Amino acid sequence: MKKIVILGSTGSIGTQTLEIVRYHKDIQVTALAARSNIALLEAQAREFLPDMVCVWEEEKAKELAGKLKDLQVKVCAGMEGLLEAASMERADMVVTAVVGMIGIRPTIAAIKAGKDIALANKETLVTAGHLIMPLAEKAGVKIYPVDSEHSAIFQSLKGEDAARISRILLTASGGPFRGRTREQMRDVKPEDALKHPNWSMGRKITIDSATMVNKGLEVMEARWLFGVDFDRIEVVVQPQSVIHSMVEFADGGIIAQLGTPDMKLPIQYALYEKERKDLPGARLDFGTLGKITFETPDFTNFPGLALAYQAGRAGGSVPTVFNAANEWAVSRFLDGKIGFLAITDMIEEAMENHRMIAHPTVEQILDCEAETYELLRVKA
Ligand code: NDP
Ligand code: MG
Repeated sequence: MKKIVILGSTGSIGTQTLEIVRYHKDIQVTALAARSNIALLEAQAREFLPDMVCVWEEEKAKELAGKLKDLQVKVCAGMEGLLEAASMERADMVVTAVVGMIGIRPTIAAIKAGKDIALANKETLVTAGHLIMPLAEKAGVKIYPVDSEHSAIFQSLKGEDAARISRILLTASGGPFRGRTREQMRDVKPEDALKHPNWSMGRKITIDSATMVNKGLEVMEARWLFGVDFDRIEVVVQPQSVIHSMVEFADGGIIAQLGTPDMKLPIQYALYEKERKDLPGARLDFGTLGKITFETPDFTNFPGLALAYQAGRAGGSVPTVFNAANEWAVSRFLDGKIGFLAITDMIEEAMENHRMIAHPTVEQILDCEAETYELLRVKA
């Protein structure tokens, strides 16, 4: 029986991963981790009986340990707990479904311990891809993308020669503000930005979709996962979110993956290492759908996408600054402290103020993150 660890089990990706485990009944969960939602974590521990549960917040971990006294489960806390869960001996695969750069160290620990990775936590690859990809290769560890676009690319590459890719066509819905000018987005509130037209996801990524920063992160994620340079990664706006991404090959042929917007397919495809298993759920009906439309992305009103290409091309520590500034700004926006447009303004400002390190270590990446937060702290 396959054994998995889920980091971020109480979130959008984490809970959908557990839905798949519940449905197929042939995967064993050996560890679960979350930040603070111990009510859900307790219920998950009782249902899936992992060996270990990890809670980021120390006080909450103590509280959960009390609640789970009757179970044979170890309760851990903080980064130490995440690292222990990520590298636990019994596991075969780690699902990285935490949000943000907090995932870097646990992902590296999992790879070093020889675990395959089902990677949802894109911020980790964006900021530390230059360390993670060679490490995974050296350890003989596979990285299975969970992000729907990257899974679509991965599915389109099955049986193909990746060396014959001519372009990756990364599709984007355009988010809730597609077609608006910056001026028309000036006063949008978190509740407006949290209304994604097609996908139901965690709060941070939903805001990233509204700014198009998510697509920028995905461009950088694709660069690491598929080893193509930025000139060959193109964003195509496809508002219906039916085509999840496409690959064009040297002969001009394009292979795409289509389906309803449901993260369970890419999660399952990663968990089962490219095996096509049953998955109940809505199916595409082309008669009802009628049409699929395409647009070019609006780099002017959505500068987050242009800044992401700039950060990705610069490389080194610049993607870390891009990502850290975004994480900072999104949390301030969600707290009502800054306006929507300030998110990408802050990213730009942080990138302008940064002196690049060409090949940052994990410590340097985390220092850059802290420096970026410090720079922006005075603003909001
Ligand atoms: P959510 O906000 O829904 O969930 C985040 C999860 O991470 C929660 O379980 C949360 O715990 C946990 N977490 C946060 N901080 C810590 C911490 N310091 N230590 C331990 N656990 C922590 O996010 P999503 O599921 O939407 O996204 C997860 C990742 O997947 C992101 O990187 C996102 O970009 C990516 N992704 C998500 C998609 C989606 O459809 N949701 C699609 C493609 C990619 P708690 O509940 O206690 O706060
Ligand atoms: Mg995506």
